[in-house]
Amino acid sequence: MSNFRDYIKDKKRIVVKIGSSSLQHPETGELDYTRLEKLVRELCDIRNRGKDVVLVTSGAIAAGKKAVNLKDFSQAENQAEAMAMKQACSAIGQARLMMVYQKLFAEYNHVAAQILMTKNTIVDDLNRYNAHNTFYQLLKMGAIPVVNENDTVATYEIEIGDNDTLSAIVAALIDADLLILLSDIDGLFTDDPRKNPDAKFIEQVDELTDELMGMGKASTGSSVGTGGMNTKMIAAKIATSSDVDMIIANSKDLNVLHRIIQGKNEGTLFVAHKDDSFDLPVFVENLHK
Ligand code: GLU
Repeated sequence: MSNFRDYIKDKKRIVVKIGSSSLQHPETGELDYTRLEKLVRELCDIRNRGKDVVLVTSGAIAAGKKAVNLKDFSQAENQAEAMAMKQACSAIGQARLMMVYQKLFAEYNHVAAQILMTKNTIVDDLNRYNAHNTFYQLLKMGAIPVVNENDTVATYEIEIGDNDTLSAIVAALIDADLLILLSDIDGLFTDDPRKNPDAKFIEQVDELTDELMGMGKASTGSSVGTGGMNTKMIAAKIATSSDVDMIIANSKDLNVLHRIIQGKNEGTLFVAHKDDSFDLPVFVENLHK
C-alpha cells in the first residue's frame, strides 16, 4: 500500500469542515470560544504555509436559537412556522458566527469572507459559474472563505441539507486537493463503535465500494447538526470522484489539523479516484430524490 499520507504534505488547496457540535459547549449549547480560537489559529497557520484554505462551518441555527433563547422549534404551530423559525434563527446565528470568525481571523492578520450557498448555487449554470469565480478570486486575494448553507432561504426543495455534503461540493467546485471533515468520531469503523465494541477502525479507504457506502450509519449520536456517517459517505463519493482526497478526523483535539497537514496518520483517508463520468450539478440536483 503506497503511503498516501506523504502526499498530504504537498496538498495546496484545503477545505476544512467543522460541525455545530464541535463548536459549542455540550452543557449549555453556547459557542465554545476556546475551540473556535484554536480552529482559526490552526487554519491561519495552514494559510501561512502558503496553502489555500476554505472553512465550511455549521453552527448558525444553533447560535441563533441560543441568541433568542429557543430550545427547539416545538412551539411552532405548524411545519411552515417551524421552518420560518429555523430560517430566522439561522439569519441571527450566521451573523453572530461570522462576527466571531471575523474577529478571530483578523487577530491573526487574515481576511475572512462569507459565502452562503444552496443547491441552486450548483445546479444553476450561471450561479455555479459565479460561485466558482468568487471562490477563485478570494483565494487569489489570499482571503479565507467561510462557507455555510444559506439556511435563511433554503427549504427542503433547494437545500443541500448538511454541511458534510456541502463541504464536498465546495471542494469539487474549487478543485481542492484535500477535504478534511472534522467530526465527533475518529473516522470510519467497520460498525458503529458506540454500539459494537468489536468495531474496527479503518485507516484508509482505497475504493468506495457499495458495501462501504451502505455502512454509513444515519446517526453520530450528536443532537446538534445534521451530519451522520451517511452524509460523510456521500461527501466521500463527491470528493473522491472529483479527484479530491478526503479525511475524516476527530475534532476533539483541533491540533489534529496540522498533524494531518504534516502527513501524520490521523483519521480515515479516502483516496481520490477521479471519475470522469461524475457530473456535480446532476448529482446535486438529485440529492434527496
Ligand atoms: N447549516 C446548518 C447550520 O449552520 C448546519 C448544517 C449541518 O449541521 O450540517 O446551522
